[in-house]
Amino acid sequence: MDECLAAGTVSSNGPEVERFEEAFARRVDAPVAVACSSGTSALHVALLAAGVTAGDEVFVSDFTFAATVHPVSYVGARPLLVDADARTWNMAAELVAEELDRRAARGLAQPKAVLVAHVLGLAADIQAIAAACDRHGVLLLEDAAQAVGVRLADSHRQLGTFGAAGCFSFNGNKIITSAGGGMLVSADAALAARARHLTMQARVAGFEYEHDMVGYNYRMTALAAALGLAQLQRLDAFIARKLEIASRYDEALAALPGLTFLPRPAWLAPTLWLYSVLVDPATARLDRVALAAHLAKAGIQTRALWTPMHAQPSYRAADRLGGALADRLHAEGLSLPCSTGLTDLEQSRVIDTLHEALR
Ligand SMILES: *Cc1c(COP(=O)(O)O)cnc(C)c1O
Repeated sequence: MDECLAAGTVSSNGPEVERFEEAFARRVDAPVAVACSSGTSALHVALLAAGVTAGDEVFVSDFTFAATVHPVSYVGARPLLVDADARTWNMAAELVAEELDRRAARGLAQPKAVLVAHVLGLAADIQAIAAACDRHGVLLLEDAAQAVGVRLADSHRQLGTFGAAGCFSFNGNKIITSAGGGMLVSADAALAARARHLTMQARVAGFEYEHDMVGYNYRMTALAAALGLAQLQRLDAFIARKLEIASRYDEALAALPGLTFLPRPAWLAPTLWLYSVLVDPATARLDRVALAAHLAKAGIQTRALWTPMHAQPSYRAADRLGGALADRLHAEGLSLPCSTGLTDLEQSRVIDTLHEALR
C-alpha cells in the first residue's frame, strides 16, 4: 500500500492489480483472473462476456444475497429462481437437473445460463449442477462471492472454477477484503479478455480514445489490489479461525433443543464464512426474533439470513422452482458472531447467553 501511494499509482494503472490477479488465479488454480471494482460488477461483466442478453432466461439461486440476481436484471435477462435444498442450503441440484431434463424431453427451450451462488462459506452441489448443464448445453456461471477458499474435500478444486466464469467479492464483510473489489476467473481466455475490456470502458488500445462497445468503469484500483494481495496471504489463517469458531459452537450448542446446524456434506471443504443456525419456533424456547432480541440485550449482535429473492418486490413476479426451503432458511435462520477477530472470551459469552435463553 505504501508502495502504491509512493509511486502515485493509487488508481488502476499500477502493477498491484496485475499482481493480485496473478496471485488470486494461482490461489484458486484458474487460468485467468480479471480484477473488478466489486463482486457485483464482476457478475455483470461475466454475464455480458458470456453473451447473456435481453430476454434470455437465467436460472439463479433464490436463497442468496440480492447482488447475485440484480446483474441478471442489468442485462435485461429474466431470472427463474431455484430453491435451495436441505443438504447444502444452496441451489438444489436436483431441481435444476429435473427441470432441464423435463424441458429436453418435451422439446422446450432451455435457459441461456444457470447462475449458481455459493453462500455462507458452503456450496451448492456444483458437480451435479455442472453435469446437468453439460448434458443440455447450458452455460454455467458461479457467484462465489461468499466462497473464497471453499473447495471440494477430496481435491483442491475451488468453488468458482466449475463454470464458464466464477465471480468473487472482497467487500468489507467477506472472508478477505480489498475494502471493495471483486474478481472474475475463467478458463476461457476469450471470455476473460472480453470481461477485462468491458471493465475498462471498452477502450481500444492506442492514441485516439476509441471504444468498440459500451463499456464500464469496473476496474479494480491499485490501492484495493494492494490490500487484497496482503489479505490473500492471510486467507488460510482466516479459514482456520472460522473453522475453529464453528467447531466450538458445534460442540457447545449441540445439546440445545430446537436448533438445526449448517449442513456439512462430506464432499465439501467449507470455510463456514457465516455460522448460522435455524431456530425451530415449535421446539426452541424462543423463536429467532426473540432470541436475536435476547442476545442484543446482552450486547451480542446477530444477523438474519436473506429474505428469499422470490419475496423481494423486484422479483415477486419471477418464475421459480420451489421456494419453501428458502422461506424456512429466512424464517428460522440466525447468524451468530463469527468474525475472525472474535475472542474466545467473547465466544464464551455468546454460548453462555444462548444456553441461558434456550435451555
Ligand atoms: C457480497 C456478495 C455479492 C456482491 O459483492 P460486492 O463486492 O459487494 O459487490 C454478490 N453475491 C453474493 C452472494 C454476495 O454475498
